Amino acid sequence: MIDVIVIGAGAAGLMAAYTLAQQGKKIIVLEARDRCGGRIHTVNQDPHFELGAEFIHGNLPVTLNLLQTAGIKYHHAGGEMWEYKNGSFKIGENVIPDWDKLMEKLNALQQDCTMTEFLQREFGGDEYAALRSSVNKYIAGYDTADPNKASALALKNEWQNEDEDAQYRIDGGYHEMIKFLMDAIISAGGEIYLHARINVVQWQKDNVAVVAVDGMTYYAKCVLIALPLGVLQKSTVKFEPPVPQQETALQGMGYGAIIKVLLQFKEIFWEDEQTRKLTGKDPKQMAFILSDEKIPTWWTQAPVHNNVLTGWLGGPAAAAKKNVNKDDLLTDAIQSLANIFKRSADELKNKLQLAHIVNWTADPYTCGSYAYDTVKSESSRQLLNKGIDETLFFAGEYLYSGPAMGTVEAALASGQTTANKILSIWNVK
Ligand SMILES: Cc1cc2nc3c(=O)[nH]c(=O)nc-3n(C[C@H](O)[C@H](O)[C@H](O)COP(=O)(O)OP(=O)(O)OC[C@H]3O[C@@H](n4cnc5c(N)ncnc54)[C@H](O)[C@@H]3O)c2cc1C
Repeated sequence: MIDVIVIGAGAAGLMAAYTLAQQGKKIIVLEARDRCGGRIHTVNQDPHFELGAEFIHGNLPVTLNLLQTAGIKYHHAGGEMWEYKNGSFKIGENVIPDWDKLMEKLNALQQDCTMTEFLQREFGGDEYAALRSSVNKYIAGYDTADPNKASALALKNEWQNEDEDAQYRIDGGYHEMIKFLMDAIISAGGEIYLHARINVVQWQKDNVAVVAVDGMTYYAKCVLIALPLGVLQKSTVKFEPPVPQQETALQGMGYGAIIKVLLQFKEIFWEDEQTRKLTGKDPKQMAFILSDEKIPTWWTQAPVHNNVLTGWLGGPAAAAKKNVNKDDLLTDAIQSLANIFKRSADELKNKLQLAHIVNWTADPYTCGSYAYDTVKSESSRQLLNKGIDETLFFAGEYLYSGPAMGTVEAALASGQTTANKILSIWNVK
């Protein structure tokens, strides 16, 4: 009999399956898509495109250990952060005005509340309009979160732990990591089934039947559910018998929205003489641009100089565009760049070679971006991480507590922790 069924072949599910298979457990992984990786999706072309995760956001132990075991190299990412506002460019050191005052008030906060409530209470006056707007833009951009739901204390912790200098990209792309995990699982005797979209989990202690939409049923002693929070919140997977406490806990957690745009141009116009004159700066140093355009955030592949620009729209504005078609999103993206770099949209369209527009919120197997903390998240995580009756377990980026929320690190760490919990239960049994 199969020991563990893992549902979902993203970083969390694969890391869990890898950890279990290494210890000789019989596992199968069931994945709805025609590929593994989930929110890691590298398109192999020259240069490769990261449609999902792209950066390692810091010196993150589980990710870096795994890369070392796999012999996969990575390189430093980044350069200058530019801000484009009211027609001029500046190198942004801190894009939030009155930052010190903001942190002072956050440090004094005892009782958690949403960021909107905190801002209204502490910075409600007209003189703080710029601060409120910058905080909201930052939360939407980086955390892809809704300030009306995001926890003020969790954001404080995140901002205190940021290490701006340590950002990396994986040589060959994040898929190298996924490939390593898949190969290791299969070499250890595990099996991975694609096109296996699960919609029912029937369970009793030490016994599960997992049913796919095509009617296939898989049996095991226990199940590890490594689905995205957004998919679970939509309740498209039914539990029989139901798990009402866990369902409520899932609904209390925050899950963001994101649209990522990758544009490859025939030339690197953002590094040319026209851009140098326009900005008055060395455009080769530019890594990020923050703006107020429809697609507000852009980045290059700095320090690598290639012809790809990436656009990013996160948070409530991305959620509002869930049903907008890709042509309209491309028009917004081109117009945003045309406004920033003072070129005509037609010129940029003529220079465009290839575009990938990924609306992850509209993707039924993701339904959003990644988790952010609400006031209820920590208690939800504690409940979900306990599992149910030593038979139903959960893993995923949203179940990680620590400084790397919403990342691949969070997913890997959660997968590893849950697998170790299953192993320790069996060692005792
Ligand atoms: C646009 C974008 C950019 C990002 N950038 C970064 C970054 O730069 N750095 C970083 O560290 N993190 C980044 N992240 C976050 C990171 O990608 C995620 O936190 C992480 O990959 C999540 O892994 P997971 O295993 O928890 O979930 P997922 O990767 O979503 O895996 C869940 C799996 O479940 C499958 N599934 C869904 N429904 C079913 C079903 N019914 N039956 C069976 N299978 C199903 C899905 O297809 C998927 O494969 C980014 C995310 C996005 C969307």
